[in-house]
Amino acid sequence: MKPMHELGVRVPTKRSLVIRNIKEVTKEQREHALRETEYSMFSFPADMLVLDFLSDSGTSTMTDLQWSSLFHGDEAYGRNKGYYVLLDAIRDTFERGNNPKKNINLILSGETNIEKLMDELYLASYENGFVNGGIHQLTRPNAFLVPQGRCAEYLLFSTIAPLLRKKYQEAELYIPNNGHFDTTEANISANGINPVNIFSNDLFEDFPPDQMDIRNPFKGNMETQELKSFIQEKNPDNIPLIYLTLTNNTAAGQPVSLNNIKKVNQIARKFDIPLFFDACRFAENAIFIKNFEEGYQSKTITTIIQEMFSYADGFTISFKKDGLANIGGGLFFRDKGVFHRKFSINGDIGIKLKEKQILTFGNDSYGGLSGRDIIALAVGLYEIIKEPYLNERIHQVREFARKLANNGIPVVLPAGGHAVYLNMNKFFGGSEMKIDDFGGVGLTVELIRHYGIRAAELGPFAFEWDNKTPEERKGILNFVRFAVPRNVYDSSHIDYAVAAITELYKNRDQIPKVKVSRGAKLRLRHFQSGLQPIYK
Ligand SMILES: *Cc1c(COP(=O)(O)O)cnc(C)c1O
Repeated sequence: MKPMHELGVRVPTKRSLVIRNIKEVTKEQREHALRETEYSMFSFPADMLVLDFLSDSGTSTMTDLQWSSLFHGDEAYGRNKGYYVLLDAIRDTFERGNNPKKNINLILSGETNIEKLMDELYLASYENGFVNGGIHQLTRPNAFLVPQGRCAEYLLFSTIAPLLRKKYQEAELYIPNNGHFDTTEANISANGINPVNIFSNDLFEDFPPDQMDIRNPFKGNMETQELKSFIQEKNPDNIPLIYLTLTNNTAAGQPVSLNNIKKVNQIARKFDIPLFFDACRFAENAIFIKNFEEGYQSKTITTIIQEMFSYADGFTISFKKDGLANIGGGLFFRDKGVFHRKFSINGDIGIKLKEKQILTFGNDSYGGLSGRDIIALAVGLYEIIKEPYLNERIHQVREFARKLANNGIPVVLPAGGHAVYLNMNKFFGGSEMKIDDFGGVGLTVELIRHYGIRAAELGPFAFEWDNKTPEERKGILNFVRFAVPRNVYDSSHIDYAVAAITELYKNRDQIPKVKVSRGAKLRLRHFQSGLQPIYK
């Protein structure tokens, strides 16, 4: 007998034990709701949708182990037991490679040996990594829990900006990234620093759909020559941080290679600039490295993650990504590392960050999260590094992209880790739709109206084309994104979406232009402004 993979069929990786029924909604009811919500994707009632691809953030199905861990959630105000478990799970994930301690099992198994709990969890001393422990987390705090990724960004940039202002006064400061996420960009510019995107030059190169299982060009990479010239041109003193986003959400969710991480790290070292990761979807990035980067096929996911993070001086992360949990975020920096040294101006930077954390998000041991969230997140860190899960995850997204490509839809290939991106410049190529007609928004409106499918425009509307200078417009891509929630949909859902998108593509001349009818100047306006489609 042949093994299954030779028969072209994949071995199933999970079973569903809970389901949610989808309600029947008519087109007229959806039209009514669209009108009443100003055609804003973020305001449409989710309960009226058939499929929701708005975001993969916090929308994942938790596993049975995560659900069962909720009972261990400890709602204490100070030093809940999940706090220790989570900090140690973060050390396991990002630093310990193939030698995790899994101290979480002490709690989940109800260990009563207090000496053991004190030695291994509650009082255990750690330093020199991303998560100081024991007395060191008090005297040199470097790990900060917050409710979401953007809270970590806010915490970081609002704390460092005044320090930089004091030091550099009126100088223009820049933070380059392989692709700033919208909230990262907004948090940086809200603090008077200029966010700059340095995308890979081959982001838009064609890629054959039938090669997706075989190779990957890592289009999420940062163009390192360009980074170097940029730093030299602007002067290293005016670059407080270099950022790498893994995977590169803004650049179509494309992965970043370890080779690129290494090269960016070398540049950061040369100019003595701290290198930070936006680590949302680090696990999905790692499975791409394992499957497609030379030299990593026989390495475990955990050692790949360990190597990736060995090149970082710190990271911000949304724990709502990668299927980790439904809520959570964090900021971490290397104890006594480059960031700590450069930003400890008139006092320890960690102490300053902790003060702001307490002012804004609560005591450091819960950071705006419930004890239940914290324990589910800690368990999630062990769930999402399982290879069958990760392979199935990126395979589903790839299948979605492949089916669209086979129907002639201009989808960015190869598919990224968490979402499928349609290239709107090509979608409306040759038609009278201009970039500031927001055709991508028109497509999202029609998808909801006709088929009850929600997607997100990440293009000239979300990135505020009309409010930007010609120079700034260069960093704006023109996508509609279908973010796939983890462990929620099966191939019947994907097929429904592919059929709907294909039908709209065939009838693209009927997709309306869209006007921003309210709040065109609001920051992060795609979350809040009103829209009006213009039907012919
Ligand atoms: C989601 C996301 C963020 C922000 O995280 P939130 O939890 O939504 O605040 C930052 N960077 C990237 C790349 C993201 O995908």
